Amino acid sequence: MNPQPRKINDSFSESNDENQQQKQKKKKPSTQLPQPGTAQGSCAFDSAMITLVPITDAAHIVHGPSGCAASIWGNYTSLSSGSMLYKTRFTSDTDESDIIFGGAKKLYKGILELQRRYKPTAVFVYSTCITALIGDDIEGICKDATEKTGIPTIPVHCPGFIGSQNLGNRVAGEALLEHVIGTAEPDITTPLDINLIGEYNIAGAIWNVLPLLEKLGIRVLAKITGDAVYQEVCYAHRAKLNVILSSIALINIAKKMEKLYGIPYIEESIYGVEQINQCLRNIAAKLGHPDLIERTENLIVEETSDLEAKLTPYRIRLQGKRLILSIKNFKSWLIIFAAQKLGMEIIAICTQNNTEDELIRIKSFLGQDGIVLESESPEAILQLINNNQANILISDARYRDTALIARIPFLDIDIERNHAYACYRGILEMARELYATFYSPVWEQVCRPVPWDVGKTAKEITGASPTSLEEI
Ligand code: SF4
Repeated sequence: MNPQPRKINDSFSESNDENQQQKQKKKKPSTQLPQPGTAQGSCAFDSAMITLVPITDAAHIVHGPSGCAASIWGNYTSLSSGSMLYKTRFTSDTDESDIIFGGAKKLYKGILELQRRYKPTAVFVYSTCITALIGDDIEGICKDATEKTGIPTIPVHCPGFIGSQNLGNRVAGEALLEHVIGTAEPDITTPLDINLIGEYNIAGAIWNVLPLLEKLGIRVLAKITGDAVYQEVCYAHRAKLNVILSSIALINIAKKMEKLYGIPYIEESIYGVEQINQCLRNIAAKLGHPDLIERTENLIVEETSDLEAKLTPYRIRLQGKRLILSIKNFKSWLIIFAAQKLGMEIIAICTQNNTEDELIRIKSFLGQDGIVLESESPEAILQLINNNQANILISDARYRDTALIARIPFLDIDIERNHAYACYRGILEMARELYATFYSPVWEQVCRPVPWDVGKTAKEITGASPTSLEEI
C-alpha cells in the first residue's frame, strides 16, 4: 500500500533530533484537559504542501477529498516574483465511488487535462489520508503521466496520518531528492553558488536576503523552496554550499546532498541583526573565496550603521515602553531582538511547549524581574498586563480580545504574517509595525471614558470597567 513504508520509515529515523527535543519538553500532567485552540495545527500533508507549493511554476494536485485542499490553500503568504500558477488549487476531489472503485484513473485523467490547459513545468501530486488508505498507486500514475506528457510528475507520499508537521516537511524533501534535484544542469556554475533551504518566502522574506548576497557577488543557485522555479531546484546539486534557514524542517535535504554530492551545509537564522551578521560571516567563511570575508565585513558595517540611523526616530518614540510577548514559534523571537534594539522593556514572555534549552534562552533575554509564563490563558495575561503596567501586547490573534479588554495596543504576529521581518530590512519593518501599532490614534479613542462614565468618580468607573474576563 502507498505511501511507501521504507521512505516514511527513513524519515522517522531521521527525526531523532526532533524526538530528542520532544522528550526534553516539559511533561504535562496526563489529566490536562484540551483547551480551545490547542488542537489547532496542520497535518503532514499540509506541511508537505507548504514546503513544495512555493515552486511557483509547477501545478500542485491534491489527490484526495476537496476538503483537504480547501482546508489549507491560501493559508500561507508565500510570494512569487514570477508565475502565479502555484496559487491555483487543483484536486482530484475523491468521492464515495472513488473510495469503492479507486481514484487512480480519475487522477490520471486530471493530470492530462491539467497539463493540456495550464502547461506547467512540473506537476506535484500529494496523497492524502483517504487515497493512501484505499491504496491508490500514485507512484505508478505519476510515472505513466510523465511518460505520456513529458512533464515531470512527482508523487509526494504525505497522508496526514503519518505524523507531525516536521515529518511532512521531510517527506517533501525526500520527493525533491528522489525526483527533482540532480535532474538538470545549470548553464554555468561559479565558485560562489549557494542554495537557500527552508525559507518559503512568507510575505517576501527571501527578497530581504537576496540583495545582500548579490552585493557580495554570491549567486543563489536554488531556493528550496521560496519563490522558486522548478528548473532551479533541478540543478541545486551544483551549489558549493547549502544554507539552511529553517533548521529542523528540511535538514534531511542538506544531509543527503552532503552525502550524495559532497555539498557542505550550515544552519543559520536571518531573523535578528546579530543573526544575519553571523549568517553572512559563516557563508563567506565556508565559501572561502579570496577577499569575500573582507567584503562581507564591510557590508555588515554598512548595513548595520544604515539600520541604526533608520531606527533612531523609532527608538526615540518607543524607548522604555513595556511589552508582554507571547511566543509561539521561533521566528517570534525576532521580536525580542527588535524590541531590545529599540530600547523597549520586555516585562513578560508567555510561552508554551518550549524545550528546557529554549526556556533558559528565553529567561536570559529578560531582566531580573522578568516573568516567564509557561501556562498561558487570557485571564493570566490580563492579570500580567494590569499588575505590570504593560504598554503593549504582542501575540497571535488568540489574545486580541485580551488586549482590547485591557485597553492597550495589540500587535498580531503569527506564522501567517503579512510583513517580511527577515534581515536588516525586517528589523526596520518590525520597528515601523511597533510604532504604527503603539501610536495608532485608535488607542486614544479606546482609552477615552465612554459618554455615560463622564463625571463619575474613579470608583464608579472601575465598577463599569471590567478587570477580568468574568466581569464581561
Ligand atoms: S489529516 Fe488527512 S484528511 Fe485531514 S487534511 Fe490532512 S490529509 Fe486531509
